[in-house]
Amino acid sequence: LAPAAPRPVPRVLALANQKGGVGKTTTAINLGTALAAIGETVLIIDLDPQGNASTGLGIDRRSRRVSTYDVLTGEIELREAVLETAVPRLHIAPSTMDLSGIELELASQRDRAYRLRDAIRRLNGPAEQFERARNDIDYTYVLIDCPPSLNLITVNAMAASNAILVPLQCEFFALEGLSQLLKTVEQVRTTLNPELTIHGIVLTMFDARNNLSTQVVDDVRQFMGSKVYETIIPRNVRVSEAPSYGKPVLLYDLKCVGSQAYLRLASEIIQRERSLRLAAA
Ligand code: ADP
Ligand code: MG
Repeated sequence: LAPAAPRPVPRVLALANQKGGVGKTTTAINLGTALAAIGETVLIIDLDPQGNASTGLGIDRRSRRVSTYDVLTGEIELREAVLETAVPRLHIAPSTMDLSGIELELASQRDRAYRLRDAIRRLNGPAEQFERARNDIDYTYVLIDCPPSLNLITVNAMAASNAILVPLQCEFFALEGLSQLLKTVEQVRTTLNPELTIHGIVLTMFDARNNLSTQVVDDVRQFMGSKVYETIIPRNVRVSEAPSYGKPVLLYDLKCVGSQAYLRLASEIIQRERSLRLAAA
């Protein structure tokens, strides 16, 4: 009997920043959509108890019978939590408010920081092995939408990821908190996940009419150098309207500057991935 072909391993990227309102969820949804649009097969894992990524992709609360909470408690396999979205090749594992209690529930478990990593390791596989799995798709990208906190949930995401994507809002306090975030990434690298890197920093909600926005871009580039993506996401009302229709902005208004920026970000990320692979080879 010929051995089964090895299943591809997805690239796992976490969107993390302990500040709220910086564009983590918006970037998860729209970068995920843009990656799917250029042929990748993408799973978004919603790890924020608020569930904004799930809502923004049109998943109403009633259809979240199982969620990432059940995955982290070990009740179900990750693939069993996956739902389709209106975007072809873009799926989501939704979250519910239950997640907000997970920290205490897992407190005494020895593998508590590795729950998500282990679930993702079992993600790409034939559907028959899972009782309630809905598909037999191998994902090429997994994007994790983190909560606005450096808690056990975010640590699970960091332990499970190849790299971190940091959205930074172009506002006065943009850099505040960044060194704490970088310190946490460093701690996770030395204790839980030696291969963890910062993939890049994405500047969001840029307002060209505001001098401060331009100043922040200069400061962040000075501080973080080439880690900052070329692509800057502009502030754009179409981006903020789309979630109330349960749609990524690329489905809501493909031509708007926000959609175009997320498409550019996706190709820049693919490009960066290619050079990382070449460097490793
Ligand atoms: P986080 O997940 O980091 O808390 P969100 O992605 O939810 O942040 O964004 C916070 C708010 O800013 C949301 O209301 C979102 O619609 C809005 N927003 C995000 N990016 C943009 C943008 N490029 N233009 C306009 N509004 C945006
Ligand atoms: Mg969010």
